[in-house]
Amino acid sequence: MVDNSHNQELEDLREAARPCFQCGICASSCPVFRVAPEMNPRMSVDSIITDGQVPAEGNEWLCAYCLMCEERCPMGVSLTEILMGIRNISSKEGKAPPDFVESAEALLARGCLSPTSNRSVKKRVDLGLPDLPQPDPEHVKLIFEVTGAYEVLEANRVAVKEEAE
Ligand code: SF4
Ligand code: SF4
Repeated sequence: MVDNSHNQELEDLREAARPCFQCGICASSCPVFRVAPEMNPRMSVDSIITDGQVPAEGNEWLCAYCLMCEERCPMGVSLTEILMGIRNISSKEGKAPPDFVESAEALLARGCLSPTSNRSVKKRVDLGLPDLPQPDPEHVKLIFEVTGAYEVLEANRVAVKEEAE
């Protein structure tokens, strides 16, 4: 079932995927596919072209964005752009995996995903390097406001809560 609210985004993804002739080089190049065959970039592209919708399985969230598939695609298909587009549409529908929602919450609270470790701070001091700027959650909040990410996060908060009930 195609979600009409994402028609333009889907059409853009279809356009980006159009040169694909299903050779499978992307899948055979993908390091994630080797250990998790459900993450198949060729199938993701096929779903966009053939069905005109994002794949229902949500395996695109396993992509590590290593760019290997994109480097090797003989047709120059931007697979990472397509996979990111699929994630964007899924997120707006409240289908982001709970781990990603947790990461977004942490980003909002701390202003960064991974604080600099004490070991790294000490190493910098030993090397005479200047202090790193501290992450500011207010900057992240501003980005969330401007980009509409708050609404996307809220849709996923609701979905995670409903799933837990
Ligand atoms: S490598 Fe490119 S042309 Fe081949 S299946 Fe993947 S996206 Fe399609
Ligand atoms: S960018 Fe994603 S889909 Fe492409 S090879 Fe890397 S992990 Fe696989």
